[in-house]
Amino acid sequence: MAAGRAAELGARVLLLEKMGRVGVKLTLTGKGRCNLTNGGDLPTFIESYRHNGKFLHNVFSRFFNDDLISFFTSRGLPVIEERGRRIFPASSRAQDVVRVLRGYVNSQGAAVQIHSPVQEILTDESRITGVRTDAGIFKTAKVILATGGASYPQTGSSGDGFGMAEKLGHTIQRIRPALVPLEIEEPYVRDLQGLGLKNVKVTLLSDGRKAGEEFGEMLFTHFGVSGPIILTLSGLAVDKLSSARVDLSIDFKPALSPEQVEARLVREFQKHSRKQILNILPNLLPRRFIPVFIQRAGISLAIKGNEVRSGDRKRLLHLLKDWRLTIKGPRPLEEAIITAGGVSVPEIHPSTMESKIIPGLYFCGEIMDVDGKTGGYNLQAAFSTGWVAGEAAAI
Ligand SMILES: Cc1cc2nc3c(=O)[nH]c(=O)nc-3n(C[C@H](O)[C@H](O)[C@H](O)COP(=O)(O)OP(=O)(O)OC[C@H]3O[C@@H](n4cnc5c(N)ncnc54)[C@H](O)[C@@H]3O)c2cc1C
Repeated sequence: MAAGRAAELGARVLLLEKMGRVGVKLTLTGKGRCNLTNGGDLPTFIESYRHNGKFLHNVFSRFFNDDLISFFTSRGLPVIEERGRRIFPASSRAQDVVRVLRGYVNSQGAAVQIHSPVQEILTDESRITGVRTDAGIFKTAKVILATGGASYPQTGSSGDGFGMAEKLGHTIQRIRPALVPLEIEEPYVRDLQGLGLKNVKVTLLSDGRKAGEEFGEMLFTHFGVSGPIILTLSGLAVDKLSSARVDLSIDFKPALSPEQVEARLVREFQKHSRKQILNILPNLLPRRFIPVFIQRAGISLAIKGNEVRSGDRKRLLHLLKDWRLTIKGPRPLEEAIITAGGVSVPEIHPSTMESKIIPGLYFCGEIMDVDGKTGGYNLQAAFSTGWVAGEAAAI
């Protein structure tokens, strides 16, 4: 986006790409469908970044989701809006998004050189003079650093830009995984692999105190938990884990008060007084979860509805409203959807994306210390900052 926009405004542009093709990560986004933005309004967007959403205010006022949608539709790629106002190409193919961007870059006359990892940005007395690659030095007075984060390194985004920016005097906020699955201590989660829970509330507890809460879907995996609400809570979990014990509390019945859940249990056990508890609980919980659940409640699988005592019921109630899981840690950065941390934003002009330290150096995308939740927010931030950086660098 940055290369295309700068070329469109008349700059002579060379896009140096490390991989054998551009946009490798982009082709993986949205499970190959590319959730390229979100239909939400500006305040919703600003709130959707865990770090430095306000920094994007200026950029979004110049190039926002409606501009991005027009950009793609006017180039023959209509979009559709789905649940949560997520916007995808109507073709449901991330490849098409890359194709349009490649077409934009080519049609504006920017040159693209693949297999060209940049190793260093060259400066002379704090002024950009060029970049060094395997193939030699390219002289230039302006560089837009768009190397992305450090997650999914096989896509080419292995964090090279952080070292380059740091060498030029920029502060790099600690790099860490976000939108990442979480590993869980309790060994039984392995037996639940593949089990999805819908309409649950998950609360993140830091040293026992509530730090965050999400409602929706989650999934058990061979190492722990994943799924939309876990990914959303993961960045907060990672940050808290550096100094606290972090647990998850699952509320299986968030729409019901404890009293209502208790009344429901009483009703179920009365109605099915001759049935074994193992065959009553499926009315309340996914079947696969029940053996683990009953074992944790310290109740025999064989007891019947009319044998459940008040103490047993209280324990069941407690577990239905507050099932605890201990977080061991996040999956590695390589498996994270995005990288939190990066180039510190107070060192970047919010209206041009130019470095405040090195004139002629611009940043855009995930290399910056901005991380959004799922729903198209990360790509919109990358596209908007790319557009503005391209524009500013072209002047
Ligand atoms: C599996 C997955 C799914 C995702 N789905 C979505 C989604 O649906 N919606 C959403 O909003 N976000 C999604 N994201 C996040 C989104 O992909 C990123 O935030 C976005 O791609 C960042 O854009 P970028 O241009 O900053 O960096 P990248 O897209 O990472 O691009 C960086 C480019 O720089 C190149 N490069 C790196 N180092 C060098 C070097 N030294 N020299 C030359 N070139 C170099 C890389 O090869 C790469 O082409 C997803 C991420 C992943 C991993």
